[in-house]
Amino acid sequence: MLAVMVLLNLVLAAQVAPDGTAATWGSAVAAPGQRAHGYLPVPGGDEDVPPLPVTVIRGAKPGPVVALMAGIHGAEYVPILTLQRLAAKLQPETMRGTVVIVHIANVPSFQRRTVYYGPDDWKNLNRVFPGNASGTPTERIAHVLTHEVFDRVDAVVDVHCGDGNEALSPYVAFIANAPDPSVTERSRAMAMAFGAPTVKPLWPDFAGPTRYTSATATARGVPAIGVEWGGEARASPEELNRVEAGLLRVLKQLGVVAGGAAAPGKPRFVTWSESVMSPVHGLFTPGVRPGQRVEAGARLGEIKDAFGRTLAVPVAPFTGVVLYVVTTPPVNPGEPLVSLGQVTNTLPAQPAVAPPRAPPVVLNHFYVVLPAEAFASLRALDFLSDGFAQVDGGLPAFKVPDASAQVLYVRGQDTYLELLGPGNAFGEPVGKVGVGLSVEQEGTLSRLAGPLRTALGQKVHQTRTRRKFEGRGEVPWYDALYREPSAPDTSLDLWVSEYLPEFFQALYPDRPWSAHDVSRRALLGPRFKPERLLRNVERISLELSPRRAHTFIRELVALGYQQVSSPGDVFALQGEGLRWQVREAAQPRGLLEVGFSLNRVKTGPRVYDLGHGAKLEFSKDAPEARWVLANGRRRAVP
Ligand SMILES: [Zn+2]
Repeated sequence: MLAVMVLLNLVLAAQVAPDGTAATWGSAVAAPGQRAHGYLPVPGGDEDVPPLPVTVIRGAKPGPVVALMAGIHGAEYVPILTLQRLAAKLQPETMRGTVVIVHIANVPSFQRRTVYYGPDDWKNLNRVFPGNASGTPTERIAHVLTHEVFDRVDAVVDVHCGDGNEALSPYVAFIANAPDPSVTERSRAMAMAFGAPTVKPLWPDFAGPTRYTSATATARGVPAIGVEWGGEARASPEELNRVEAGLLRVLKQLGVVAGGAAAPGKPRFVTWSESVMSPVHGLFTPGVRPGQRVEAGARLGEIKDAFGRTLAVPVAPFTGVVLYVVTTPPVNPGEPLVSLGQVTNTLPAQPAVAPPRAPPVVLNHFYVVLPAEAFASLRALDFLSDGFAQVDGGLPAFKVPDASAQVLYVRGQDTYLELLGPGNAFGEPVGKVGVGLSVEQEGTLSRLAGPLRTALGQKVHQTRTRRKFEGRGEVPWYDALYREPSAPDTSLDLWVSEYLPEFFQALYPDRPWSAHDVSRRALLGPRFKPERLLRNVERISLELSPRRAHTFIRELVALGYQQVSSPGDVFALQGEGLRWQVREAAQPRGLLEVGFSLNRVKTGPRVYDLGHGAKLEFSKDAPEARWVLANGRRRAVP
């Protein structure tokens, strides 16, 4: 009974071509009982966009109007070839309603064989809906599909497969939170009728632009499904048969084609899915296959640079099934490597709770050991403590350092610098840099250990450091993850820490504090004065040996840093509020430059000469400064 009522609704909702008249899409005009080919133009804009090839198959009897679309991504050939064949097979004289087939929705991408993006504007068509009539070519195609297809039909089937570079395990997706619940119900029925082994309900946010085809049609009151079957720029007869059979079942379920629509087998359902993105430019070797079940923390593959050095070893963020995986070498920051889904045997009523993820890391502080002259000139610079930052000799009293001090703590709002002289108490050699990253959320440090261990292929230890406080004895200070070095490192140490609340309780016994605030500001906040300039460290440039540069990049990538474009031979990585610029050199100079953000634009002197080319330099119109170091600078031969 319900099925009959749904069918009745669809018949009543048909918006075009009343009984006995022709159905028209662009130049394709089909009278009842006829099939017509033609083109749907993409008007407007400066650049010509080829019209979209469409076939209109108008049933002899009235019924719903159904759009079948392929080629939203031009290198997805299973959909394009299936619809080419189906357009010839459907029999208008025995059909009810109308099927409009968009054979190749993204003609520029198809003709120029691009993956993901349109060749003219490098935009992903399935991310720009509802489109823009006066936008770029890709945006104009989206606009035409929204208004000339979605707005004129009763149901949409958007057929995809893995893109030209992706292998995929078949699934059908539908929007499970359509603004109109009856649209969700009709979409779900279409998805079930298709008969894919996996069904993926989606819960998009309808607050902003709808971006995707199915979300756009759904938001406009039109039930829709997205089919994914095949990939890797191939199309086997078996795949064409399976997709065609699924589409025919959907057309039967909608009442367009006569016959029963029983789907083969019972599908599994995706409760949560996520794409693991590439953090870097590089060459990817997949370590998993579509449909494979992987455990949380398992290696998904490996990304190397052109020289064969490993840059990243992505890991599964949760236990799930591989929905698709990139199978050709090129990968770029922010593009998917693997899509992973959690699956269950019953259709979930709502999305699963997001699995816990690795926390972002921030710069807690860094230290650098300076040559004697460089250290002396900074210690003698009154401005350092007189306006730039708090300068002290360390915990627990934050005393003003005296003239023989071999350590200066330079503290800003969000981070601090630990400047060491050659006679420092830690015995660290001149030129050595130590980078202390930290997590801001209590109890999250250990989540980084697995990815770090997998990425580095090395032991990673979590240690607890304590500190003596007068009258309290040993107090837990911080936990930290350290990579086990193969030999003591004289150029660069990196660790990640998490403060422990007991430490702040001991350090600031008289101040109000939150038991769970383990952030950088829990340390620096009580010392901070807004009239001082230093806010944060935003950029650090380092020159390292090729070997150390490479492991440093791997460490940062494993901690969530992402490669960004940079000039020349600099490898740049962006993380939470901090950019690293790493350069390789046979005789590396270590720390080259540090970029600061300030609480305001500095007035008065803008350059402080620190000798031997080193300087502290302030922008005249931006709240920014940079510290240029001269340590180990190679001098031109006279
Ligand atoms: Zn696609």
